[in-house]
Amino acid sequence: MEIKKIGVLGAGAMGNGIAQLCAQTGYEVVMRDIADEFVQRGLKAIDSFLSKSVEKGKITDDDKKKTLGRIKGTTKLDDLKDVDIVIEAVLEDLELKKQVFQEMEKLTRPEVILATNTSSMSITAIGAAVKRSDKVVGLHFFNPVPLMKLVEIIKGIKTSDETVKVAWALAEKLGKLPVLVKKDSPGFIVNRLMIIQMMEAIKVYEEGIASIEDIDKAIKAGLNHPMGPFELMDLTGIDIAYHVCDYLHRELNQELKHVPPVTLKSMVRAGNLGKKSGEGWYKPGDKK
Ligand code: NAD
Repeated sequence: MEIKKIGVLGAGAMGNGIAQLCAQTGYEVVMRDIADEFVQRGLKAIDSFLSKSVEKGKITDDDKKKTLGRIKGTTKLDDLKDVDIVIEAVLEDLELKKQVFQEMEKLTRPEVILATNTSSMSITAIGAAVKRSDKVVGLHFFNPVPLMKLVEIIKGIKTSDETVKVAWALAEKLGKLPVLVKKDSPGFIVNRLMIIQMMEAIKVYEEGIASIEDIDKAIKAGLNHPMGPFELMDLTGIDIAYHVCDYLHRELNQELKHVPPVTLKSMVRAGNLGKKSGEGWYKPGDKK
């Protein structure tokens, strides 16, 4: 089946990024959120991203107009009834995801693949909410979607090989580098590895072995990472790091390495969540 029209659920950070990427590749896109203000915010984010690309000379004003012209923002479910694939990027809430998958199953043709951008939930559990579980697959993009190369493709227990093949081909068509997560498992590949480095970094700091600044400097200059673990937590949210760590602890045999360090818990309790709260491991204006 040829994919021409893509339905994106959610117009938040990931939803609008996915919608933009698909439209820039030439697909017709319907981006749906629950309230018009969220749809408008998503469209505005796309507009401003594309304007910056025009300023930098990466695309022309005409490219921008064409991309925007391929995206229909909507609150109406019905507008998704003739899409060829659905990519879900609503809030990270299992019950909500199950509900929107059931809505999409009712609305779309039976052969339509229902993909989820979840960063931690079980693809198998989401798939179990619908009859079409062979057509449910994880399509895990990274933030910001138009710039980050990787897409993790996650196979739930019932996901068919054909579904994985279509998802893989789509990711490549979108200019991404797909990798296959053969078994649906918490944290998939990237988050499972990333969280261990973040937690070890906090422990190295807690044990007084090195300062936050020096740990970040060491990882950047020694491992060639563009950001150190503390900078990355400040950017993506210290609360998210805590929740992912706690989730891995519950789901992966209660291993000690996944117990959130005390300092991390204190940061969350103090409301020091990083960029979104104004202060995290670093204060605004700190030299990195
Ligand atoms: P966000 O909060 O920015 O956006 C979520 C959007 O979903 C909101 O605009 C909300 O109004 C909308 N929504 C809620 N119910 C809906 C419904 N029934 N139909 C349509 N839209 C609905 O969240 P986000 O950061 O874009 O994350 C979305 C998903 O992507 C989550 O599952 C998250 O775990 C995953 N993810 C996030 C990141 C990241 O760095 N932010 C990276 C990879 C994956």
